[in-house]
Amino acid sequence: MATTTPSILESIFLKRSQQKRKTSPLNYKKRLFVLTEAKITYYEYDFERGRRGSKKGSVDLEKVVCVESVEPEENPPPERQIPNREDSADTEQITIIERFPYPFQIVYEDGPLYVFAPTEELRKRWIHQLKHITRYNSDVAQKYHPRFHQDGQYLCCAQTAKNALGCQLLQGANGIRTNERSQRRSRKPLPPAPTESQAKASKPLPPAPTSPVTSVGPRKVIAMYDFTPMNAQDLLLQKGEEYLLMEESSGQPWLRARDKNGQEGFIPGNYVTEAQDPLEIYEWYSKNTTRTQAEQLLRTEDKEGGFIVRDSSKAGKYTVSVYAKSSGEGIIRHYVVCEAPGNQYYLAEKHLHTSIPELIRYHQHNAAGLISRLKYPVCSVRRAAPSTAGLGYGSWEIDPKDLTFLKELGDGQFGVVKYGKWRGQHEVAIKMIKEGSMSEDEFIEEAKCMMKLSHQNLVQLYGVCTKQRPIFIITEYLSNGCLLSYLKEVRKKVAQGDLLSMCSDVCAAMTYLESKQYLHRDLAARNCLVAEDGTVKVSDFGLSRYVLDDEYTSSLGSKFPVRWSPPEVILYSKFSSKSDVWSYGVMMWEVFTLGKMPYERFNNSEIANQITRGVRLYRPQMATERIYNVMSSCWEEKPDDRPTFRGLHSGILEIMEDM
Ligand code: ADP
Ligand code: MG
Repeated sequence: MATTTPSILESIFLKRSQQKRKTSPLNYKKRLFVLTEAKITYYEYDFERGRRGSKKGSVDLEKVVCVESVEPEENPPPERQIPNREDSADTEQITIIERFPYPFQIVYEDGPLYVFAPTEELRKRWIHQLKHITRYNSDVAQKYHPRFHQDGQYLCCAQTAKNALGCQLLQGANGIRTNERSQRRSRKPLPPAPTESQAKASKPLPPAPTSPVTSVGPRKVIAMYDFTPMNAQDLLLQKGEEYLLMEESSGQPWLRARDKNGQEGFIPGNYVTEAQDPLEIYEWYSKNTTRTQAEQLLRTEDKEGGFIVRDSSKAGKYTVSVYAKSSGEGIIRHYVVCEAPGNQYYLAEKHLHTSIPELIRYHQHNAAGLISRLKYPVCSVRRAAPSTAGLGYGSWEIDPKDLTFLKELGDGQFGVVKYGKWRGQHEVAIKMIKEGSMSEDEFIEEAKCMMKLSHQNLVQLYGVCTKQRPIFIITEYLSNGCLLSYLKEVRKKVAQGDLLSMCSDVCAAMTYLESKQYLHRDLAARNCLVAEDGTVKVSDFGLSRYVLDDEYTSSLGSKFPVRWSPPEVILYSKFSSKSDVWSYGVMMWEVFTLGKMPYERFNNSEIANQITRGVRLYRPQMATERIYNVMSSCWEEKPDDRPTFRGLHSGILEIMEDM
């Protein structure tokens, strides 16, 4: 017996004959249309008995390239006419079965299949559902024919071939936004690219693709931040403006782009997005704000209707946090933005919107189920633009004449670190490398690779000055300094949620490094820095390889970070992402003890001994069992038993969301 797949929709529609043979008549028949995940099938329908009759045909949904309504015919017969007022005395039942005034088209290989729905609502529902199911199809069209193919031609553009390329641009190909499509996971392997003659021979032409593999022509992006050129090759960016990318260089920190006036130059890749209406340009959006931070901001503002839109802990979802006052008490609710089929969004009640900005605009005027209407966008500090990978395109060698030294920040393994400005404007930190403390040539070679690492939780390397001695390393400046000192300073004033969010920041950076297969080798609270707004960033990644100091590099040396090292590093110097994971667990412990020294009462050689015998750090008072479980999982004896950073990060985000 054949297994039947459940139907998603079933409706009686009028179907126009497809006239596969030139001589076959143009007729209209009532059919029962049944939609499943894989197919549309249409059947005869026995109205007397209310039963499905024999199958008359079907369309494989994988082959569908476009689903769209069609403009009504000029002088339709009564059967396909919208009933006028007198007729509306007809009962609903009669209307549904007798009149089919709302046509739509399902376009696939053979050309369009025209179907007529009895009500506008039903047409809309089918189009949405079909678009949703076919949204990842490999050939979704960018253009369509708004009018019928009739008497041998399209009424809109007079093209004769049924599979002639559409003449009008769709609102987002098949209703799906470009950014979503470029991230698509294909349900099926993409078909081999057709040869030129095949492509000409038949079928609607494929859409202008958006994936990097097949990309032709420039891609459109929108600036999320202003960017002022730093050198002659850079191009100015204005927030909210559109730019065209001139070459496919995804993953590169600098992209060649053109603005609307035809000016070309390089722009920082992390300043633009392919999204059509990026949230980043709205003041109410705070991407990396956690639940706890959002609550804090809303309470501080203490304004009825204060709100923040932020990324939810569930990947790809957004949360709207709203503040309201009820009898003087501030209350906060977090609403997850829900998605309905057909790319629609809603919050508390089902008021559907086609984009998140539109949904927010709606709720700025209507509470519609929320504790308050969204009256007052609360921003997380002034949203600073992210660091660029270097100070302008291709500039990794920095002219020391462009630097002004303003104050000393501290002293480290390589010498003095100073705060200063580049060209009198951009804040930077300058490491002045004490001669003899670093294998400089090797580092300078590596610096070119390090420059390309760019993440909001990594201290950005801007460049180097290598033409003089001492050489300088120029990085992003973080005004709150080293995390270890910061923890000791903020003691008592800090909540568990803040500590977790610090750990989450570090974990995000480490997940990024892990994905690039780049090892830190010296992760610890002393090598993390704190920004003005409290964001934590990871610093000094990979630098330990260039240290010239046996006390630091030998696992028996007095400066070797034994307290942060797993057994395999202490015993065999075996570094891996999993040894970074161990160090991360220790860093988490430092955070939750507000900067205590790990294994306080032991010296280095005692620690090596204890660790290999299975002794581990205790649970800090500020860490719950759940948090302690996360850090402990980093200290599994066998590297393979430890989680990945990616896994750790989702665990931490889950705890934060439940707090
Ligand atoms: P090293 O890694 O060479 O041992 P550090 O990076 O630890 O040196 O720098 C020494 C001190 O200088 C740090 O503890 C911190 O207080 C300060 N510092 C270093 N880099 C920065 C920076 N980018 N922004 C702000 N302060 C910094
Ligand atoms: Mg350091």
